Amino acid sequence: MITFFVIGLTVHVVFFISIFDIYFTSPLVHGMTPHSTPLEPPASRLVLVVADGLRADSLFTLLPNGSSRTPYLRSIIEDKGTWGVSHTRVPTESRPGHVALIAGFYEDVSAVAKGWKENPVEFDSVFNESRHTWCWGSPDILPMFAKGASGDHVYTHTYPAVEEDFASTDASKLDSWVFTQVKSFFKSAQSNSTLKASLWEDKNVFFLHLLGIDTNGHAHRPMSQEYLDNIGLVDAGVAEVVSIIEDFFDNDGRTAYVFTSDHGMTNWGSHGAGHPSETLTPLVAWGAGIQKAKGVTEPQPYNDGFLQDWKLEHLRRVDVSQGVLPLLYLNNSERFKAESMYTNAIQVLEQFKMKMMQKKETTLSFLFTPYQYVQ
Ligand SMILES: [Zn+2]
Repeated sequence: MITFFVIGLTVHVVFFISIFDIYFTSPLVHGMTPHSTPLEPPASRLVLVVADGLRADSLFTLLPNGSSRTPYLRSIIEDKGTWGVSHTRVPTESRPGHVALIAGFYEDVSAVAKGWKENPVEFDSVFNESRHTWCWGSPDILPMFAKGASGDHVYTHTYPAVEEDFASTDASKLDSWVFTQVKSFFKSAQSNSTLKASLWEDKNVFFLHLLGIDTNGHAHRPMSQEYLDNIGLVDAGVAEVVSIIEDFFDNDGRTAYVFTSDHGMTNWGSHGAGHPSETLTPLVAWGAGIQKAKGVTEPQPYNDGFLQDWKLEHLRRVDVSQGVLPLLYLNNSERFKAESMYTNAIQVLEQFKMKMMQKKETTLSFLFTPYQYVQ
């Protein structure tokens, strides 16, 4: 009886530990050689706008009268840019959502021990690889990318955490704050020759983190007037900021814009899990190097009904997924696309090689069998 109990217990303990050994280890590797495309990039700078907690359907659905609550972004989708649905994963929280957007990988499972708030591992990001990145937004989000960046080239402008209360009556003030700051930043740069020169350099990123929609969604739910009005306010703010940036850079046609969200929200105002209302986020991109709106006459390869719901059947939808270069977003030569695919593949291979090396070092030689090359 005792023996049976001990064997049973041992088996359970081994199985229990194996879960942590298999799943709760970081999938990230470090020390790869970075690769880049040798060709001239089509954009000199990127403006990234993340409307925190914005559901895809909340942005794309038209009003009952057939107009859009986001006339500016709708005009971009109709004429100037490429749109689609970006798919996030659980946990649908702000930090992992932003890490996926800015660093390109889904949540590291070892974060479970850190409560999803803090980065469990070191990682590289597009901000770190930029020449300069200027960020505006919430103190909960911006510092983690500045902290992870090497050197001093990621500049954050946040409202003090305690002052998030200034928006307690109307959370959209958080977004107005960001737009106002960005406007005055570009205005002040006109009379600051050092800053102006930095802004005109290439490889710059401008990141606007807008927390209002998320806050309004938690407080009033996504069907509320507060949530929906906040989306309209963001649309107007984006229109104004784009116009200011275009003026600042003399309409040089070298700015790329990406508008998206880090996660959605359930009808009852929560997020974190894997319901489509939480995982489906909008993506709209336009500007330098980005494909203009493309009309379609054939049915599109999506059968989720959204194209009909959003009255967007006539415009090409391009969803994105991890690790795959979204070629249909690129407006560039075949050579550029081919070089970019090649670079992407080589970079993925670097990770494989690094993983193989680590495996080889930590495995007894007679147990290690590398994958065979397949012809
Ligand atoms: Zn969020």
